[in-house]
Amino acid sequence: MNVKVFKFGGASVKDAAAVANVAHIIQMHKSSQLLVVVSAMGKTTNALERLARAYYDQQPDQKNAIYAEIKLFHDEIISGLLKTKDSHAYDDIENLFIELECLLESEPDEAFDYYYDQIVSYGEIFSTRIVSTYMNENGINNRWMDARTFISTDDTFREGRVNWEHTSLLIEKKLKPIVQKQVVVTQGFIGQNNDKQTTTLGREGSDYSAAIFAYGLKAESVTIWKDVAGVMNADPKKFKDALKLDELTYTHAIEMAYYGATVIHPKTIQPLQSRHIPLFVKSFVDPGAQGTIVSDGVREKRIPVIIVKSNQVLLSVSSKDFSFIVEDNLSRIFSIFAEHKVRVNLMQNSAISFSICIDDAGDKIEMLKSELAIHYQLKSNEPVELITINNYDEQTLAQIKLNREVLLEQKTRATAQMILK
Ligand code: ASP
Ligand code: MG
Repeated sequence: MNVKVFKFGGASVKDAAAVANVAHIIQMHKSSQLLVVVSAMGKTTNALERLARAYYDQQPDQKNAIYAEIKLFHDEIISGLLKTKDSHAYDDIENLFIELECLLESEPDEAFDYYYDQIVSYGEIFSTRIVSTYMNENGINNRWMDARTFISTDDTFREGRVNWEHTSLLIEKKLKPIVQKQVVVTQGFIGQNNDKQTTTLGREGSDYSAAIFAYGLKAESVTIWKDVAGVMNADPKKFKDALKLDELTYTHAIEMAYYGATVIHPKTIQPLQSRHIPLFVKSFVDPGAQGTIVSDGVREKRIPVIIVKSNQVLLSVSSKDFSFIVEDNLSRIFSIFAEHKVRVNLMQNSAISFSICIDDAGDKIEMLKSELAIHYQLKSNEPVELITINNYDEQTLAQIKLNREVLLEQKTRATAQMILK
């Protein structure tokens, strides 16, 4: 029998009832060997990001207020889960809060990103402690384990790069024997560098953690439990007639993530694909329903898949001296983008101008623009939307363009992309 990996995101553990529901889903599968990866509860990571800022900028009032808010949020979940009011089962979580408080009392003397990871990682520690304790209290035997012991990264705080060789070895030798005996609950999103300092893998990185564990365990499958029915062909909040995709190839899932679909973290698929581990995306609200399977050799329905990326900037770059935008200019433009670490989402060139669509990342974009403006004439359009449609048809294109101004449009045989105002 092989191990299954389950991943539960923040929305699946946002309050006491949600935690009980997660425990129920695990209970139903506990005859399998199970590794359960859990994210921070609800919007805790956002709150911890604000806390890290207030700490680093030395704003004590803000810091104390945000800390209290996070503490209260978790205390309320715990009291909702308690069987009797005088139970001490969750006392060790109190100690974790004290540990965080001590850190917040110290004076920052390292870079912000280092403190970000030390502080923000508590979200996952709190949530997994609560989930694990609740399950043990309710007859679902499990062992809490610290993901940092297994996920080995470099020193890039906030975007730790995984040392695959070391990580897979640790998971196979140290974690697998435990998972074979008992349900294991661990954290998404966090790892540690060679100096045993906590690192994080980038926002929304818990899906990626699940894939890393699955790779190391040579797992049978990964299931990401979400508040939607599966992977949809469009965002149901924006498109009323959105449909669930029953089956999806790894390649298509990677493309969707690349174009900006947010259901699955972009780094998740490749490790799974390389070991042919199928990924299920299922609803924690309706756990018996079929969901989506992402795998090799599945049969996809050829229906249009619509991916909307909002908050985009469309930049048009042209020369000041009437020279054409060809190789020498293009290579300079690209090196400016690379220097500012700005990713190009779409581009198009003509003889005299070059258009580029990028995420509106505030300050970073202002800095990029002012450097470009030294050499080039710039026009910018914002905010705009970048819409990508795989398997497009005329009806879908018309529906999307209805009453909108199209600034740019590109088509290949399978994919249409357009920038809309
Ligand atoms: N808690 C982290 C975040 O919100 C990781 C995750 O949820 O995947 O970014
Ligand atoms: Mg989250």
